[in-house]
Amino acid sequence: MSTPSICPRCEQDWLHRYRFKSDGAVFSLCTECDSFWWPQAGTDIANALFLDDVVAARLGEEGNPWTTRVWADVIEAMPDEG
Ligand SMILES: [Zn+2]
Repeated sequence: MSTPSICPRCEQDWLHRYRFKSDGAVFSLCTECDSFWWPQAGTDIANALFLDDVVAARLGEEGNPWTTRVWADVIEAMPDEG
């Protein structure tokens, strides 16, 4: 079992493993500040993306993607890996 990492950006929450429902792509997310990391990138502040930007880009939209949908429509938490 991997040790959870605390968010380097806000230091207010652990990084949680989520995945996109559409294709199962896994990423790390801080649900406090919405910082987003692909697993290939180290979880450094310099590599941090924002969930809103990534979701909007994947959907081919600009701006806030959450006006017509909620997180549960797009992403889901990974089950605990034990
Ligand atoms: Zn954070």
